[in-house]
Amino acid sequence: MDMQGILEEIVDAVAPLRGQGSVASYIPSLGGVSPESFGMSVAMADGPVYGAGDWRTPFSIQSISKVFSLALVMSYDYDSIWARVFREPSGTPFNSLLQLEADHGIPRNPFINAGAIVVTDRLLTLTGDAAGSIRGLLRRESGNPAIDVDSAVAASEAEHGHRNSAMAHLLASYGNLENPVERVLANYFDQCALELTCEDLATASRFLSRHGVSSGGTPFLTPHQSKRVNAVMLTCGTYDAAGEFAYRVGLPGKSGVGGGIVAIVPGRCAITVWGPALGPSGNSVAGIAALDEFTTRTGWSIF
Ligand code: GLN
Repeated sequence: MDMQGILEEIVDAVAPLRGQGSVASYIPSLGGVSPESFGMSVAMADGPVYGAGDWRTPFSIQSISKVFSLALVMSYDYDSIWARVFREPSGTPFNSLLQLEADHGIPRNPFINAGAIVVTDRLLTLTGDAAGSIRGLLRRESGNPAIDVDSAVAASEAEHGHRNSAMAHLLASYGNLENPVERVLANYFDQCALELTCEDLATASRFLSRHGVSSGGTPFLTPHQSKRVNAVMLTCGTYDAAGEFAYRVGLPGKSGVGGGIVAIVPGRCAITVWGPALGPSGNSVAGIAALDEFTTRTGWSIF
């Protein structure tokens, strides 16, 4: 298969969709990104990496960081996180407070904000530096030691983070945080503000296409855990659009409001797309179209 040719064709095919939707502006420093940008990269499970468009431009990974925090917690703590967070699709926006109250402080899944805050809290207990340990994992898996937090984005999110702050306090009121709210939120904002290119993110996610085996060849997750992370990505990774994402793309995927999406073809590759203009559920419009094209052209949907 001519993977490089396929990516170039897809980037051309989705060009009319660039800029469709709107760039996330509730985090003001994300609002300045060009909605016309678009990049795509594929990291094959056995090594080669391909890319097209703006695949080497760094962007804010936002909620995609939640995949790595969950993987790290599972690697240290096995399955114990599931006593504090469910793993069911939410069917509500990623920042819903109503659902958290209705569920008595147990978030519906680890990829909506409330669930991710619980996972970050656990990672903070386990490592003393949740955002730093996620950054370490990303650097190690991608081989790029320059990966870092964009501190302007983290500060912008903290300044406008009233809803996440309300969520963290609600979790604490139900006894579902182990650390002080302010420390947990600071780590959460930092992990969301990590900046990576499509290339970095595809290589950093590759362990999920390798049944948990890290870039260095050692096991990071067990095959059992890797299967579970992919399953939660499939059912919960794109929030209230997870059904539509499965219908169109047919792969485990995780989006972020920076416009990135990571998708996994188990046994074959990790894919990253980036297009900052988002649809109503906070997922990249051009990105979903590109992944739809990818599974159509390759036949690599899991279905
Ligand atoms: N940092 C963002 C927030 O907490 C992440 C949301 C997202 O990417 N869906 O609102």
